Amino acid sequence: MERSFDLAIVGAGIVGLAHALAAARRGLKVVVVDRDTRANGASIRNFGFVSVTGQQAGQTWQRARRSRDIWAEIAPKAGIAVTHAGVCVTARRPETVATLEAFLATQMGEDCELVAGPALAARFPFLVGQQAALWSPHELRVESREAIPLLAAHLECDWGVTILRGTTVHGVALPAIETSAGRLRADAAIICPGDDFTGLYADELKAAYPQLTRCKLQMLRVRTAAAGPDLPCAVMSDLSVVRYLGYAELPESAALRARIEREQPEQLANGIHLIVVASADGTRVVGDSHHYAATPDPFGDTDVDELMLDEYEAVFGTRPPVEARWLGTYASLPDRPMLRERIEGRVRLVIVTSGTGASTAFAIGEETIAEMFG
Ligand SMILES: Cc1cc2nc3c(=O)[nH]c(=O)nc-3n(C[C@H](O)[C@H](O)[C@H](O)COP(=O)(O)OP(=O)(O)OC[C@H]3O[C@@H](n4cnc5c(N)ncnc54)[C@H](O)[C@@H]3O)c2cc1C
Repeated sequence: MERSFDLAIVGAGIVGLAHALAAARRGLKVVVVDRDTRANGASIRNFGFVSVTGQQAGQTWQRARRSRDIWAEIAPKAGIAVTHAGVCVTARRPETVATLEAFLATQMGEDCELVAGPALAARFPFLVGQQAALWSPHELRVESREAIPLLAAHLECDWGVTILRGTTVHGVALPAIETSAGRLRADAAIICPGDDFTGLYADELKAAYPQLTRCKLQMLRVRTAAAGPDLPCAVMSDLSVVRYLGYAELPESAALRARIEREQPEQLANGIHLIVVASADGTRVVGDSHHYAATPDPFGDTDVDELMLDEYEAVFGTRPPVEARWLGTYASLPDRPMLRERIEGRVRLVIVTSGTGASTAFAIGEETIAEMFG
């Protein structure tokens, strides 16, 4: 007999799981179907950096605040460790300081502060060569390769969500969901395929979003001498201030961009900025670069890794050994952070089209479920 559900979700990345949580909280009977036998997509390849400060002003920033609150609420229930909180955005140029000062004057600067002078070394003794740093208390960091499986287990054990792995969804014609493991029945469906645009509703996506593409990122894990997490917060740098739209859209960032174009053109050409987060085993995750293509090549470039390490060295004064390297890809649109398509009455397609899914998916899930189920 076919198994029946109120809602079928395709994709067990953070976007699919976030929708499952929002639906289960409303009492819906939910199935999540994923073709992989374990988490393998962008959601476990990222920093696990749930970032708020620096997200684009408006809806993305608001979604990040709401999603951060949900992460904080469910992490202890799901057994997910929060490695550290907050972010320190370093400034080694006066133009960066000016941009961060302008940011502080916006609504988004609430509870943030600029740390400079003797206080800088006292608060952030691991930094070298910086003029100042913006401190934001809003961020959380989880270890994604552990957090995503723990979140899935929490949904199964505590919310009664069914997760079918190693199962590809071939088609949706409600109430039928055709999968590689047979037919399911569901009253509604939400497709959260990450950056796979070649499967379900490929023609609709191509017609509606001809600029939809993919972004390839290079990531590093470096070894420090510490036995445990050796940073109290995430760390970003000048390059992040011209990349993260919450800062980059401020008029004050124009002078910074002009200076970085002169001084670090290779980093800009490779879409490099700096995020560093600490892990429980004494390693740090360092990234990242951004290269755009419909089908990105599958090869890492060691020159790009060295450019990232140059930026790391400019902030920390050391060049630690690299323990692991990996690539990730995410969906990308030039002008919108996410898309939610109404395919038909009870079918939605949801894709985060910027590198913000870990930071915004929980809020996006709540919105979709509220729109579909009232
Ligand atoms: C290297 C890297 C660093 C990042 N850093 C950050 C960060 O610091 N902060 C942040 O907020 N975001 C970050 N992001 C972005 C974030 O990771 C993504 O936005 C988010 O993970 C996308 O989640 P998703 O669920 O849509 O995709 P995925 O995690 O890729 O999941 C999609 C799932 O759908 C499944 N699927 C697709 N089609 C089918 C089908 N037909 N049948 C069954 N299953 C199917 C796939 O198997 C896959 O498991 C980063 C991304 C990368 C790659």
